[in-house]
Amino acid sequence: MKELSRKVKDIKPSGIRKFFDLANTMEGVISLGVGEPDFNTPWHICENAIYSMSQGKTHYTANRGLLELRQEICKFHKTRYNQNYDPETETLVTVGGSEAIDIAFRALLNPGDEVIMLDPNYVAYAPAVELADGKCVMIQLKEENDFKLLPEDLKNAITDKTKALMINFPSNPTGGVMTYEDYEKLVPIIKESGIYVISDEIYAELSFDQEFASLAQFEEIRDQVIVINGFSKAFAMTGWRLGYVLSNKEISAQMTKIHQYIIMSAPTAAQYAGLEALRNGIDDVLVMKNDYLNRRNLLVNRLNRMGLKTNMPHGTFYVFPNIQITGLSSDEFCEKLLEEEKVACVPGTAFGESGEGFIRISYAYSLDHIKEACDRIEHFISSRIK
Ligand code: PMP
Repeated sequence: MKELSRKVKDIKPSGIRKFFDLANTMEGVISLGVGEPDFNTPWHICENAIYSMSQGKTHYTANRGLLELRQEICKFHKTRYNQNYDPETETLVTVGGSEAIDIAFRALLNPGDEVIMLDPNYVAYAPAVELADGKCVMIQLKEENDFKLLPEDLKNAITDKTKALMINFPSNPTGGVMTYEDYEKLVPIIKESGIYVISDEIYAELSFDQEFASLAQFEEIRDQVIVINGFSKAFAMTGWRLGYVLSNKEISAQMTKIHQYIIMSAPTAAQYAGLEALRNGIDDVLVMKNDYLNRRNLLVNRLNRMGLKTNMPHGTFYVFPNIQITGLSSDEFCEKLLEEEKVACVPGTAFGESGEGFIRISYAYSLDHIKEACDRIEHFISSRIK
């Protein structure tokens, strides 16, 4: 048989999945691993999708998505995030934020272009860059800086070859958040260098301690920023596969071309669900957010008390405890924790080299589930803390 694509063969499978395939073969495992809400999609949202089907809305929509939905998206972003986008020319509805990430890189990159990434980062970015023939350049984020991007680090990473910066705040896996003041310091560097910024804001609604801020709020660089967002996390809609991407007209037109050929249009019933979510779902978001907040507080407290130093994550539903005190590597820690106590977490290294010494714990689980997992982790580390 002839050889398959070398580019694709070189891509490593996700370190998250690998671990969970193993956990799934064991009995009595408590998982704190999966990055999706434990809540079901609020019923009125499901109902609107069902209603749309009963009305025969079972056809393709416009390539960019239902205009009504795009208008709601732009209204939502204006009122909640102070971001201004035109529904007709700057908005594209996608199959999850995942598609948006892929087509954003494909629309921007020429072979050899560099993309600055923050390490640790969400597992889908580097493969998307590689598939688009780009090259990743890493900036190591540090625990002592609360996993934020510092202006001097950005400045030092930019070269003539840099095409874009990929950011994700609130961040998966660290829970780190950037404030408006933090971003203010990056704006002149981005403006002067002319690089694009892809800003994955999928956890925007899950900002707990400060108002959500975005580089797209700065008029002077607004055209350089591509905003990725979606319904999965805020509205507990992972299975609907609905997201969107906001950008200037020219980039949006190029991304729409790719989307038109590979997708045609996002699923129609899911788009009707999204419409209802934006119109009437914000109260559901706030209820779920409050639950996440209680869980976060309990979890961070417990981890610190048992001796695992854990920064307070200001957003998402992840914590990123430092496990170095146990003398184990991230991989060893997770493997032994699974073997001995049947608790599944993700090694920090699944998100990049700087994740060594950390693990990612998701708290998109019930309080009882989290408490039981904490008891087991405490038991696991008690004999290992030196
Ligand atoms: N970005 C980040 C940071 C994520 O954590 C995820 C999901 N884990 C996604 C994008 C993709 O989400 P979806 O495709 O479901 O919108």
